[in-house]
Amino acid sequence: MTADEITVASKRCAKCGETKAVSAFGRHSRAKDGLLYQCKECARERDRLYRAANPEKARERDRLYRAANPEKARERGRVWQAANPEKVREGQRVYYAANSEKLRERVRVYKAANSDKERERNRVYRAANLEKVRERDRLYRAANPEKVRERNRLYRAANPEKAREASRVWRAANPEKAREASRVWRAANPEKAREAGRVWRAANSEKVREASRVYRAANLKKVRARCG
Ligand SMILES: [Zn+2]
Repeated sequence: MTADEITVASKRCAKCGETKAVSAFGRHSRAKDGLLYQCKECARERDRLYRAANPEKARERDRLYRAANPEKARERGRVWQAANPEKVREGQRVYYAANSEKLRERVRVYKAANSDKERERNRVYRAANLEKVRERDRLYRAANPEKVRERNRLYRAANPEKAREASRVWRAANPEKAREASRVWRAANPEKAREAGRVWRAANSEKVREASRVYRAANLKKVRARCG
């Protein structure tokens, strides 16, 4: 009993009992009248209840459908997303919250695999957003002083030459700040400062002699008074 054509004008839904127009029913080629036994509305409700009761099976069925009908599935998804922007945003929020570790790891792996690309992307972005980037860096450093110190420590340990050169360049460009930073550090680390001074003087005896000579020449009276 196969019906290629719909043989009735209206039909009584076997589920809700209402008599509805043919357009309210889905097609079913193996039925005598060419229509499904229940109306679209009842079919949707049955589907909703089935999904609620069998979420795993429903997901699997969806997965199989998408695999078999990729184009249709994409189009259906696109239409649904366009009609439900709020739900899309909420879904993304929930997904990110539930998979933040996984997502961070994925980003990390991608960056590691595309370090050149990533570096270039960063460089271009920073060049185009200099002020924004500086402000963001400043806020991050203010909020994470411990992390920044640790990261700097690791960097200096891994790149002693570069760190020394960067420090030299910075001191040359910021002599006042460098002196102040040095003063603060010595006040906080008197023992280390004394030891560092001792090591430096031992390694730079010529400079020490020269500095001493310059100081004595400039402060002749003071030196004489001190020496009695
Ligand atoms: Zn119905």
